[in-house]
This record gives sequence, structure tokens and C-alpha cells, in this order.
Amino acid sequence: MIKEYESQMEKGPSVWHMTKRSLGYMLKIAWTEKKSVFFLYILKFFGAALSELKVLLLPKLLVDEIMAIKSGLPLEDHMQRILLYVGLTVGAELLSRFLGNTADSSLNWYSAYFDRVLQYRLCTKSMEMDFQYTEDPTVLDQQNKAKEGISWYSGGVIGVLRCFYEVVYNLVLLCSVVTLIAFYCPLLIPVQVLAMAAVCYYNVKNQKVNVEFFLKLAKSNRLFGYFFFDVPSYRHGMDTRLYDCAEMFGERGGDFAGEQIDLWHEQSLIQRKNTYKSNLANAIRDGVSYLYMGLRALKGIITVGDFTMCASAASRLYGSLMGIGGNLQDLTQKCSYAYQFLKYLEYPDALLKGEKPVKQEGEHTIVFDHVSFRYPRSEEDVLRDVNLTIRPGEHLSVVGLNGAGKTTMIKLLCRLYDVTEGRILLDGVDIREYDEAEYRRHFAVVFQDFKLFPFSLRENVEAGDCLRPADDAFFEETLKLSGLYEDAQKLPKGYDTTLFKGFDEDGTELSGGQQQKTAISRALYRSAPIVILDEPTAALDPLAEYDIYRKFDTLVGGKSAIYISHRLSSCKFCDHIAVFSDKTIKEYGTHDELVNLPGGIYAEMFAAQAKYYVDAVS
Ligand code: ADP
Repeated sequence: MIKEYESQMEKGPSVWHMTKRSLGYMLKIAWTEKKSVFFLYILKFFGAALSELKVLLLPKLLVDEIMAIKSGLPLEDHMQRILLYVGLTVGAELLSRFLGNTADSSLNWYSAYFDRVLQYRLCTKSMEMDFQYTEDPTVLDQQNKAKEGISWYSGGVIGVLRCFYEVVYNLVLLCSVVTLIAFYCPLLIPVQVLAMAAVCYYNVKNQKVNVEFFLKLAKSNRLFGYFFFDVPSYRHGMDTRLYDCAEMFGERGGDFAGEQIDLWHEQSLIQRKNTYKSNLANAIRDGVSYLYMGLRALKGIITVGDFTMCASAASRLYGSLMGIGGNLQDLTQKCSYAYQFLKYLEYPDALLKGEKPVKQEGEHTIVFDHVSFRYPRSEEDVLRDVNLTIRPGEHLSVVGLNGAGKTTMIKLLCRLYDVTEGRILLDGVDIREYDEAEYRRHFAVVFQDFKLFPFSLRENVEAGDCLRPADDAFFEETLKLSGLYEDAQKLPKGYDTTLFKGFDEDGTELSGGQQQKTAISRALYRSAPIVILDEPTAALDPLAEYDIYRKFDTLVGGKSAIYISHRLSSCKFCDHIAVFSDKTIKEYGTHDELVNLPGGIYAEMFAAQAKYYVDAVS
């Protein structure tokens, strides 16, 4: 499915397809979210039509009246009409501006509103797409194209609708002025059309250059964003300071900025030449048009009033033709940018999506059946032929050196990735056949690099189970179980204290230990039947880690549990131990069996670490 999608994208969809899809999408959002936007465009249309009448018709009427007076006709007869036309001009001006301004100011507000709607959809897609995409450079580039394409490149919903409105408006205007000119100065029409064709040709060339450079810039924009926005943020703050890498990052960021500036320069040189040529076509058009109309007026075929009207109509004809051409180009271009957003929203799933429900009640058996795995875009297997059974209620300790594949095994079990070979079974069913969200609800995991959110303590813990109705008693119980209860009472706003100061100056910075306890509370709040601790304690010393694991094991009680560590803190109280080495499980058994295995990896690790545990474990 992904291959099919990528090859489709490589060929590139037609401009017509992109325009149809993006315009349809924007019209649909406008219709479902705020129908009144269409009413605003109708107001805008009437305002603009009044303004055209004022420019085209009223000056002709006035000039003809003035010429009549000049030719000696009685002043009184014509003065009244002159005053009426002046009054109409003032009225049309006021009303057209009022309608236009009212519509525009509301549309500006709508633009901000729709921007949020689109950003929300983009953000939701990014959070819901398969996890492996979060580190896939192709997807990240596409995400950036979507983000930029939907914001200032296309102007979002209002940007696209505005272009569409302009096309419709200019079409109506064109029909009106063509009728007028065909009557008074028919040859003006081919002159305007030829000039417009030349100008359009150069504009299309320029717009192709725009799109070409937009795509070329996507990667350097993302890297630039990383260096200048991500790196200076709080998240990287400590590392950049401790390792004194500000200068290095500044240089790397400068390289990317330089790359961007070179590309922009190249773009502007190409576009400037095309603009000069289109200016020349405009100048020739003006000369020929005025010559033709002047000759007709001199010959008396048209009046002086007709001359002024035709001059305005010719400029409006050209304006509307150019408008349609330009607006169509603008519309297709904006739609091509916006299409990057649709392309991102439609990015196909990487993982198979099953629909089977998971057994809700009772205990669960997990089986790894000849599982091998290599990360996407990687050349080498990380796990090879892993076989393992975790029986209901069993507590398993997974040990091995750093990089042995322990976390990868958990990621596979949680379906963050799918196995490359073999299968993982839950209660005898391949986990790829289960409904993904329902399957994941059966796991409560605390990863080594768990993340807390800049929300309140309560929200952080309750995020463990968003489907559970607010349950204060259970929430407090999880705090007590994890050992955070006492500390939580001392927070400035109690459970409603915001974690971290980035979003709330009254927020609090929890200590490393308190953060771990919060993450453990969150896992307990989930009350899932299978619990996993993946070294969330790696920063602690071995004895403190041992203490947390042992306490946690008591909390978990009769549920299935997997504890991961490259230290041996959890091994003594677990039913079984799986020792990972060389991409597979090399040893499996109880602590007593493995510790006595002559020349065994576990026995060797235990001997090396024994000094930490001699008192605690025995
Ligand atoms: P452990 O948990 O035992 O320390 P991991 O499962 O984290 O080991 O990693 C196993 C191997 O997989 C390591 O060689 C690591 O570099 C590699 N690895 C981990 N994550 C990725 C990834 N996202 N892409 C490619 N390789 C990865």
C-alpha cells in the first residue's frame, strides 16, 4: 500500500486533480464548519459589482452631459442629471466600501478560525499515525510540507476560497464588459486577449518556479526549524549548555540558512527575467488600444463619453481576463500547496489493521513465535528467531546488555512496529488481527524515556485511561501506591498543579524520582491486565532501582508483568528470566536455575553486579 502510494506520488498527480481535491476539501470544511462564510462572499460580490458600475457607467453619463452643455444645449436640462449622477457616484462608493470592508474584516477573522481547524487536523493525524513514521524522514518532510502548504503558502481555507471567489467574480465581470466592448469597440477584444496570453505565459513559468523551489526548500526548512527553534528550547537546554554546543549548533544552523538563501536568490533571478517580458507585453497592449479607440472617437463612431467608458471597460476587460488567468493560476497553485496537506492526511498505514476484539475478561497468554525484526530503512536484524511464552499472571524479567533488543521486543509487543518474520500471539491470536486501539488498552507501559505533559498532575495521571470516567478515589489510590501521595499534598495547587513551568508560571518542576512516580501512577491508573516497566529507573542507583521494582511488583499483584533492565534488580522476585544477547534469547529460566548455569551469561552478569545486591537480594 505504501509502495503504491509512493509511486503514485512520484508520478505526481495532475494540477487538475490537486485543484479539484483541495478546492472540494476546503469548500466542504467551510460548509460544515461555518456556512456564513458563503454569505460574506455574496456581500463582497455586491460591493464589488457596485464599484464597477460606478467606474464604468457613471463617468460616461457625466462626460456625455458635460459635452452636451459644451455643445450649447440648455444648462438647466442637463445640470439636474449631472447632480443625480454625482449623488449616485457618492452613494455607490459608500455602499460598495461598506459591503467590501464588512465582508473582508469578517473573513480575516474566519481565516484565523479555519487555520486552527486545519492545524488541529494535522496535529491529530501526526499523533495517530503509526509510530514508526515519527522517525521516518520522508514522512517528516511530508509533514513539514503539509504544515507550510496549509498555512502561508496556500492561505488555508480562506486563501483557497478567496481565489475561487475571484475567479467567479472575474468571470461575471468579463461577460459584462465583453458585451459592452463588442458593442462599441469590437477590435479591443483580440488585443487584450493576445496581451493577456503573453502575460499568463510568463506568470505560469514563474509559478512553476515557485512550486519547484517550495519542494526544494522543504528539507532545509525542517532542519532550519530544528536548529533554531527545537535546539534552543527547554528540552535541549541542559545538554546544549553542559556540552557547550551552542556554537556548533549555530554553525550547522547557519549552513542550512545559507543553503536556503542561495535557493531564494536563484529563484528570484529566474523570476525577474520573466517579469520584464510580461511588462513589455502590457505596454504594447496599452499603446495599441488607445490608438484604436482614439481613432474611432475622432471619426465620430463613438462619443467622448463612450471613449471614457471603453477605456475603462478595456482596462476592466484586461483586468478581468488577467484576473481569471491569474486567479486560476493562483487557485491551482494554492491548491497544489494545500494538496500536500491532504497527501499527509491520507498517508497510508504502515501496520496491518485488524478488527478482532480482544478477550476482555480473564487472563492472557503471550507467545513470541519465531519472531525476527529489523527496523524500517535498516539493513540489519535487531531480533532473530525469538521464542518466548508469558503465561497468565507470570512476572518475567528481561535482562541483557544495552542494545541487546529488550526495548525493541516491548515495542513489538505493544504494536509500535510489526514483526518482520514470525508472529506474536495474544491468547492464540496473531496480534495483527486485533483492533489496534483495543489491543493497546491491555498494556500499561512505563518506558525508560517516558514523557509527562505540561498539564496538571491529575491530568497526567488520568491520561493513563482517558476512557475511564473521573474517579477521584482511584486516582488518589494510584498516588498512594506509587508513593507520590505525600508529595502531591505539598504542591502549591495540589493535584491541579501544572507540571513544568513552560506553560504556567505557577507550574512545578518535579524531581526525577517524583516524575517516575507520576509515570508509574499513570500506568497503574490504566489498570491494564499486562504491565511493563522498561527501565524507567535507569537514572537511579542499583539499590534504589531494586527498591522501586520490588515495590512495583507488589502493586502489580496477580497481573502479567514484564520488567526490563540491563541490571538484575528485578530478577530475584520474578517467575522467569529471559536473557537477551546476540539478538535473541540465549538463556531462560528461574533465578536459581540461571545463576547456577556454568559459564552462563546471567551467572556472569550476576557475579559482576552481586556487590550491589548481596544484602538487598538475599
Ligand atoms: P535495549 O533495550 O536492549 O538496550 P534496544 O531494543 O533499544 O536495546 O535496541 C536494540 C538495537 O536496535 C540497537 O542496536 C539499537 O541501535 C537499534 N535500534 C533501536 N531503535 C532503533 C530505531 N528506531 N531504528 C533503528 N535501529 C534502532
